Amino acid sequence: MKLTTDALIIRETNTVGESDRFVTALTRDCGVIRASVRGARQLKNRNGSATQLLCYSRLSLYKGREKYIVDDAEPLQVFFEVRGQLEKLALAQYFCELAGVLAPVEEPAEEELRLLLNALHYLAEDSRPMPLIKAITELRLLCRAGYMPAVVNCAACDTQVCVRFSPLRGEVYCEEHGAPDAVPLTAGALQAMRHIVYAPFEKCFAFSLPQTDTEVLCTAVERFLLAQLNRGFHTLDFYHSLR
Ligand SMILES: [Zn+2]
Repeated sequence: MKLTTDALIIRETNTVGESDRFVTALTRDCGVIRASVRGARQLKNRNGSATQLLCYSRLSLYKGREKYIVDDAEPLQVFFEVRGQLEKLALAQYFCELAGVLAPVEEPAEEELRLLLNALHYLAEDSRPMPLIKAITELRLLCRAGYMPAVVNCAACDTQVCVRFSPLRGEVYCEEHGAPDAVPLTAGALQAMRHIVYAPFEKCFAFSLPQTDTEVLCTAVERFLLAQLNRGFHTLDFYHSLR
């Protein structure tokens, strides 16, 4: 079966002694797939540059019995500005690892792909603080994957004025209530969380936040992610080691 789809390359592996490259791609039509790229490591092969990590490309694929084969790849966007700065590159690689875990497999992943492309676009143009891009990308990916926190009311009494968040339970609490693992939330961070969770996709990056609220938001979202997925990420550790 042959198909054409747009995809972001989220992982590449070169195998010693072979001319092919193995990639993991977040595709619009088939979600996360693994594929080999014919002749990608040979000099002057145009498929080579279009199937590098962080390339957004139009892929022509054959679906074999067990795996996909990239027959042709045309680069659409390369994100040079992200590749050129280590901290941005580290965060982008974390987004890729996260998408590899959270995005659908062999099912359409239009919003996940657009989310990552938006995040890379904002990283490239420096128009949003990196921690804010990180929190939005993490929380939207989690929501899409079925990990949606309940951030409207206190989980114990229904008041909407909430001051803490439980990463394990994914719930917010008022001044009177809480959970053993709860972390503090500012009013700004709570409002931002509600926006990221409930806003239509087109609006999810469209807000600004003071730095102190951003730090609170980032801590809450990252702890939520690690608690819900019950695992760590090497790319996340590396990103933190640079800051
Ligand atoms: Zn309460």
